[in-house]
Amino acid sequence: MTSILVVEDEETLAESLRYNLAREGYEVTVVADGRLAVEYHRRRAIDLVVLDLMLPGLGGLDVLRQIRSSSDVPVVVVTAKDAEADVVAGLELGADDYVTKPFSMRELISRIRGILRRASRVPRSVDSLVFEGGPVSLDVDRHEVRIDGELVDFRPKEFELLEALLARKGRLVPRQILLEEIWGVPFFGDPKTLDVHIRRLREKVEQTPRSPEWIVTVRGLGYKFADDR
Ligand code: CA
Repeated sequence: MTSILVVEDEETLAESLRYNLAREGYEVTVVADGRLAVEYHRRRAIDLVVLDLMLPGLGGLDVLRQIRSSSDVPVVVVTAKDAEADVVAGLELGADDYVTKPFSMRELISRIRGILRRASRVPRSVDSLVFEGGPVSLDVDRHEVRIDGELVDFRPKEFELLEALLARKGRLVPRQILLEEIWGVPFFGDPKTLDVHIRRLREKVEQTPRSPEWIVTVRGLGYKFADDR
Protein backbone atom coordinates (compact mmCIF):
# COMPACT_ATOMS: atom_id res chain seq x y z
CA MET A 1 0.00 0.00 0.00
CA THR A 2 1.25 3.47 -0.80
CA SER A 3 1.84 5.42 2.39
CA ILE A 4 1.55 9.18 2.61
CA LEU A 5 2.74 11.35 5.46
CA VAL A 6 0.70 14.54 5.84
CA VAL A 7 2.33 17.33 7.84
CA GLU A 8 -0.37 19.85 8.63
CA ASP A 9 -1.21 21.68 11.84
CA GLU A 10 -4.65 22.95 10.87
CA GLU A 11 -6.96 20.27 12.21
CA THR A 12 -9.81 20.71 9.78
CA LEU A 13 -7.56 20.61 6.75
CA ALA A 14 -5.56 17.72 8.18
CA GLU A 15 -8.74 15.70 8.69
CA SER A 16 -9.97 16.49 5.24
CA LEU A 17 -6.63 15.38 3.78
CA ARG A 18 -6.71 12.19 5.80
CA TYR A 19 -10.23 11.40 4.67
CA ASN A 20 -9.75 12.19 0.99
CA LEU A 21 -6.38 10.49 0.59
CA ALA A 22 -7.58 7.39 2.46
CA ARG A 23 -10.57 7.26 0.15
CA GLU A 24 -8.12 7.21 -2.78
CA GLY A 25 -6.61 4.07 -1.29
CA TYR A 26 -3.54 5.58 0.34
CA GLU A 27 -2.37 4.75 3.83
CA VAL A 28 -2.31 8.13 5.56
CA THR A 29 -0.48 9.33 8.66
CA VAL A 30 -1.04 12.88 9.85
CA VAL A 31 1.37 14.77 12.10
CA ALA A 32 0.88 18.37 13.17
CA ASP A 33 4.44 19.19 14.08
CA GLY A 34 7.65 19.55 12.07
CA ARG A 35 9.91 17.68 14.48
CA LEU A 36 7.55 14.74 14.62
CA ALA A 37 7.46 14.73 10.84
CA VAL A 38 11.24 14.46 10.57
CA GLU A 39 11.32 11.75 13.22
CA TYR A 40 8.48 9.79 11.67
CA HIS A 41 10.12 10.00 8.27
CA ARG A 42 13.37 8.57 9.70
CA ARG A 43 11.64 5.59 11.24
CA ARG A 44 9.08 4.59 8.66
CA ALA A 45 9.00 3.83 4.98
CA ILE A 46 6.98 6.58 3.35
CA ASP A 47 6.16 6.89 -0.32
CA LEU A 48 5.24 10.57 -0.38
CA VAL A 49 5.04 13.57 1.94
CA VAL A 50 2.45 16.37 1.81
CA LEU A 51 4.12 19.18 3.72
CA ASP A 52 2.52 22.41 4.86
CA LEU A 53 5.23 25.07 4.93
CA MET A 54 3.49 27.12 7.63
CA LEU A 55 4.07 25.05 10.74
CA PRO A 56 4.64 26.11 14.32
CA GLY A 57 8.04 25.28 15.78
CA LEU A 58 10.24 23.69 13.14
CA GLY A 59 9.04 25.33 9.91
CA GLY A 60 8.16 23.46 6.75
CA LEU A 61 11.27 24.52 4.84
CA ASP A 62 13.46 23.20 7.67
CA VAL A 63 11.51 19.97 7.68
CA LEU A 64 12.06 19.68 3.94
CA ARG A 65 15.78 20.37 4.32
CA GLN A 66 16.11 17.66 6.94
CA ILE A 67 14.13 15.14 4.93
CA ARG A 68 16.21 15.88 1.84
CA SER A 69 19.45 15.42 3.76
CA SER A 70 18.67 11.72 3.98
CA SER A 71 16.10 10.83 1.35
CA ASP A 72 14.59 11.35 -2.09
CA VAL A 73 11.03 10.69 -0.99
CA PRO A 74 8.65 12.75 -3.16
CA VAL A 75 7.41 15.88 -1.38
CA VAL A 76 4.46 18.11 -2.28
CA VAL A 77 4.58 21.40 -0.40
CA VAL A 78 1.52 23.39 0.59
CA THR A 79 1.99 27.14 0.67
CA ALA A 80 -0.08 30.19 1.38
CA LYS A 81 -1.62 32.08 -1.51
CA ASP A 82 0.79 34.67 -2.92
CA ALA A 83 3.77 33.11 -1.17
CA GLU A 84 5.77 32.72 -4.35
CA ALA A 85 9.07 33.10 -2.50
CA ASP A 86 8.13 30.03 -0.44
CA VAL A 87 7.32 28.11 -3.59
CA VAL A 88 10.71 28.97 -5.05
CA ALA A 89 12.52 28.08 -1.82
CA GLY A 90 10.60 24.83 -1.53
CA LEU A 91 11.33 23.73 -5.08
CA GLU A 92 14.97 24.72 -4.73
CA LEU A 93 15.21 22.61 -1.58
CA GLY A 94 13.98 19.67 -3.58
CA ALA A 95 10.20 19.63 -3.30
CA ASP A 96 8.68 17.82 -6.27
CA ASP A 97 5.56 19.94 -6.63
CA TYR A 98 3.38 22.38 -4.76
CA VAL A 99 -0.18 23.50 -4.22
CA THR A 100 -1.25 26.87 -2.85
CA LYS A 101 -4.04 27.33 -0.35
CA PRO A 102 -6.89 27.17 -0.95
CA PHE A 103 -6.53 24.11 -3.18
CA SER A 104 -9.05 21.51 -4.23
CA MET A 105 -8.57 17.93 -3.13
CA ARG A 106 -8.88 16.93 -6.75
CA GLU A 107 -5.92 19.15 -7.65
CA LEU A 108 -3.78 17.78 -4.84
CA ILE A 109 -4.66 14.19 -5.67
CA SER A 110 -3.84 14.66 -9.33
CA ARG A 111 -0.43 16.09 -8.37
CA ILE A 112 0.19 13.19 -6.03
CA ARG A 113 -0.75 10.67 -8.68
CA GLY A 114 1.49 12.37 -11.21
CA ILE A 115 4.48 12.31 -8.89
CA LEU A 116 3.96 8.71 -7.85
CA ARG A 117 3.62 7.72 -11.47
CA ARG A 118 6.89 9.42 -12.35
CA ALA A 119 8.58 8.00 -9.26
CA SER A 120 7.54 4.45 -10.00
CA ARG A 121 9.36 4.51 -13.33
CA VAL A 122 6.90 2.11 -14.81
CA PRO A 123 7.00 2.36 -18.59
CA ARG A 124 4.23 4.60 -19.82
CA SER A 125 1.11 3.04 -21.20
CA VAL A 126 0.50 2.92 -24.92
CA ASP A 127 -1.41 6.18 -24.68
CA SER A 128 1.07 8.83 -25.58
CA LEU A 129 1.48 11.74 -23.25
CA VAL A 130 0.26 14.99 -24.76
CA PHE A 131 0.35 18.43 -23.14
CA GLU A 132 -1.88 21.16 -24.49
CA GLY A 133 -2.09 24.86 -23.86
CA GLY A 134 -3.25 27.79 -25.98
CA PRO A 135 -2.27 27.07 -29.58
CA VAL A 136 0.26 24.39 -28.57
CA SER A 137 -0.06 20.64 -28.51
CA LEU A 138 3.09 18.78 -27.45
CA ASP A 139 3.36 15.01 -27.84
CA VAL A 140 6.11 13.77 -25.55
CA ASP A 141 6.54 10.28 -26.99
CA ARG A 142 6.43 11.30 -30.61
CA HIS A 143 8.54 14.34 -29.86
CA GLU A 144 6.21 16.50 -31.92
CA VAL A 145 4.87 20.00 -31.42
CA ARG A 146 1.87 21.39 -33.24
CA ILE A 147 1.01 25.07 -33.21
CA ASP A 148 -2.58 25.65 -34.28
CA GLY A 149 -2.49 22.13 -35.65
CA GLU A 150 0.63 22.63 -37.80
CA LEU A 151 3.79 20.64 -37.09
CA VAL A 152 6.62 22.99 -36.09
CA ASP A 153 10.29 22.07 -35.57
CA PHE A 154 11.70 22.51 -32.08
CA ARG A 155 15.29 21.87 -31.12
CA PRO A 156 15.78 19.40 -28.24
CA LYS A 157 16.33 22.04 -25.52
CA GLU A 158 13.46 24.14 -26.81
CA PHE A 159 11.24 21.08 -26.72
CA GLU A 160 12.25 20.25 -23.16
CA LEU A 161 11.69 23.81 -22.03
CA LEU A 162 8.26 23.96 -23.63
CA GLU A 163 7.39 20.62 -22.05
CA ALA A 164 8.57 21.79 -18.62
CA LEU A 165 6.34 24.85 -18.83
CA LEU A 166 3.32 23.13 -20.35
CA ALA A 167 3.41 20.30 -17.84
CA ARG A 168 2.82 22.92 -15.14
CA LYS A 169 0.44 25.09 -17.10
CA GLY A 170 -0.82 28.11 -15.22
CA ARG A 171 1.86 27.84 -12.55
CA LEU A 172 5.12 29.63 -11.94
CA VAL A 173 8.23 27.62 -12.79
CA PRO A 174 11.26 29.22 -11.11
CA ARG A 175 14.28 30.02 -13.28
CA GLN A 176 16.58 27.80 -11.26
CA ILE A 177 14.29 24.83 -11.68
CA LEU A 178 14.17 25.28 -15.45
CA LEU A 179 17.92 25.70 -15.69
CA GLU A 180 18.59 22.59 -13.64
CA GLU A 181 15.92 20.47 -15.26
CA ILE A 182 16.98 21.27 -18.76
CA TRP A 183 20.66 22.10 -18.54
CA GLY A 184 21.66 19.89 -15.62
CA VAL A 185 22.17 19.91 -11.87
CA PRO A 186 23.87 21.93 -10.55
CA PHE A 187 23.64 24.57 -13.23
CA PHE A 188 26.91 26.45 -13.71
CA GLY A 189 26.35 27.91 -17.17
CA ASP A 190 25.17 31.33 -18.20
CA PRO A 191 21.61 31.80 -16.95
CA LYS A 192 20.92 34.00 -20.00
CA THR A 193 20.74 30.72 -21.92
CA LEU A 194 17.26 30.37 -20.49
CA ASP A 195 16.14 33.77 -21.76
CA VAL A 196 17.52 33.04 -25.21
CA HIS A 197 15.53 29.82 -25.38
CA ILE A 198 12.41 31.50 -24.05
CA ARG A 199 12.74 34.04 -26.84
CA ARG A 200 12.99 31.27 -29.44
CA LEU A 201 9.94 29.56 -28.00
CA ARG A 202 7.98 32.78 -28.16
CA GLU A 203 8.93 33.26 -31.78
CA LYS A 204 7.43 29.88 -32.57
CA VAL A 205 4.44 29.92 -30.25
CA GLU A 206 3.30 33.52 -29.90
CA GLN A 207 1.41 35.59 -32.38
CA THR A 208 3.24 38.67 -31.10
CA PRO A 209 6.50 37.44 -29.54
CA ARG A 210 7.22 40.85 -28.04
CA SER A 211 4.04 40.86 -25.99
CA PRO A 212 3.61 37.18 -25.22
CA GLU A 213 0.20 35.86 -24.40
CA TRP A 214 1.21 32.31 -23.45
CA ILE A 215 4.83 32.12 -22.34
CA VAL A 216 4.68 34.72 -19.63
CA THR A 217 7.47 36.22 -17.53
CA VAL A 218 6.94 36.24 -13.77
CA ARG A 219 9.24 39.11 -13.01
CA GLY A 220 12.33 38.23 -11.00
CA LEU A 221 11.16 34.65 -10.41
CA GLY A 222 10.68 32.65 -13.56
CA TYR A 223 8.20 31.84 -16.29
CA LYS A 224 4.84 30.25 -16.71
CA PHE A 225 2.66 28.98 -19.49
CA ALA A 226 -0.63 30.87 -19.23
CA ASP A 227 -3.66 28.84 -18.30
CA ASP A 228 -6.34 28.74 -21.00
CA ARG A 229 -9.11 27.23 -18.92
CA1 CA B 1 -0.24 25.49 8.79
